[in-house]
Amino acid sequence: METHEDCIFCKIVAGDIPSAKVYEDEDVYAFLDISQVTKGHTLVIPKNHTKNIYETDDALAAKLFARVPKIANALKESFQPTGINILNNNEEAAGQSVFHLHIHLIPRYDETDGFKPNWITHEDKYDLADMSSTISTNL
Ligand code: AMP
Ligand code: ZN
Repeated sequence: METHEDCIFCKIVAGDIPSAKVYEDEDVYAFLDISQVTKGHTLVIPKNHTKNIYETDDALAAKLFARVPKIANALKESFQPTGINILNNNEEAAGQSVFHLHIHLIPRYDETDGFKPNWITHEDKYDLADMSSTISTNL
């Protein structure tokens, strides 16, 4: 197991810090977020330490996301949310506060349930063809 000293989520995986576990297998651990945005707010993490999406290889990403539908369906069955948002924050600028990759599963209930993405669009501001070719050259 690749662990990182002083990483709170590595300590949770190792059982050194308590957590409300919802799922575990060889590669993945899932537990309730200590600060529940909505009822059932869950974090899904790889057991092997990786800082965030930039430092994650294909195989680990595949294993991690492969478990998300199962856990999302368990949340749906448990609490009957009317939807679910899946969120992953990378780097401080994007709201990452724990630097061990994690996926937030945020069950949704209604407009006032505590989670409201601020989604403002800028249709005319960007040249899509130009951007897509730039991105392609960096893949
Ligand atoms: P992020 O801001 O995307 O890095 O999310 C980190 C999340 O980890 C926050 O929602 C915290 O509430 C959660 N968190 C931090 N420490 C613990 C802990 N010991 N047990 C469960 N969740 C935690
Ligand atoms: Zn870690």
